[in-house]
Amino acid sequence: MLAKIKEFLGMEAKPEELASKEEVEKVAEEKAKPRIGYVHLSGCTGDVMSLSENYDILAELLTNMVEIVYGQTLADVWEMPEMDLVLVEGSVCLQDEHSVKELMEAREKAGLVVAFGSCAATGCFTRYSRGGQQARPDHESFVPIADLVKVDCAIPGCPPSPEIIAKTVVAVINGDMDYLQPMIDLVGYTEACGCDLQYKVVNQALCIGCGTCAMSCQTRALTMTDGRPELTSARCVKCGICYTQCPRSWWPADRIKQDLGL
Ligand code: SF4
Ligand code: SF4
Repeated sequence: MLAKIKEFLGMEAKPEELASKEEVEKVAEEKAKPRIGYVHLSGCTGDVMSLSENYDILAELLTNMVEIVYGQTLADVWEMPEMDLVLVEGSVCLQDEHSVKELMEAREKAGLVVAFGSCAATGCFTRYSRGGQQARPDHESFVPIADLVKVDCAIPGCPPSPEIIAKTVVAVINGDMDYLQPMIDLVGYTEACGCDLQYKVVNQALCIGCGTCAMSCQTRALTMTDGRPELTSARCVKCGICYTQCPRSWWPADRIKQDLGL
C-alpha cells in the first residue's frame, strides 16, 4: 500500500529486495480472511438479526476475522462469488425455481454449507405450509435444505442465540472440530418435533427431568409434568430446539468408546 501511495505521488518506491511471487502468495494466503456468504431463502431474517446481536464481538468479527462477500441485506453483490462458508437461512420452496437455483449455486460455490437456523435445518414452521395463498397459491412445499443439497453443519434455533452463531463461525475459522461435532451430527436431524423427547429420551430411560427442553421452547409447547416433558402439539412449530438442547440427546458413543479403549 505504501509503495502504491508513493507511486501515485511520484516518489521513489523501490523496496531494497523484492519478495518472490511464491512468498507474496504465501503471505496473502496466510493473511486471507474466510470469505463468508449469506443466502436468504424462505426465512424471516431473524437468524441474521440474531447474528447482528453479537454486540461485543461483531465489530471484531466483521472487521478483522471474516469477509462478507455475498448476502442480501449484507453486501451489494449480485453475482455469487466463490466462498469458504455460506450461511443459508430459511427452508427451500420446491415450487420456487429461483430459490432452488440459488441453493444449488451456493452448494457449488461454497466450501462449507451451514443450515443457519431451524427453517433451514428442520423446516420449522414452514413444515405447515400447504399453499393456496395469494400471490403464489402454488408455493406449497417447503423443505429443509439438506433435502436438496449436502449440508456440512447445522445450527438449529428459532432463531439460534447470538452466542452460538458467533462461536460456530469462530470454530469454523479455527477448525475446532470438538466444538463443531454436535452441529455436524445435527445435519441429519431434519424431521424435528417436540414429540422426539418422548420417543428418543423419555422412552429410552434417558430423561433426568432437568426441564431444559421446556425452558428452551419458545412457543411454550412443553411443560413439565411429574418430572417429564409434556407436549401440547398444537403449539409445536417443529424447530427441534428442545431435543437439541436436551443434555441427554447427544451421546457421542464412538468418542466415549474410543476414550475407554472399547
Ligand atoms: S416443542 Fe417447542 S422447542 Fe420443541 S420442536 Fe416444538 S416448538 Fe420447537
Ligand atoms: S431436557 Fe431432556 S433430560 Fe431434561 S427434562 Fe427434557 S427430555 Fe428430560
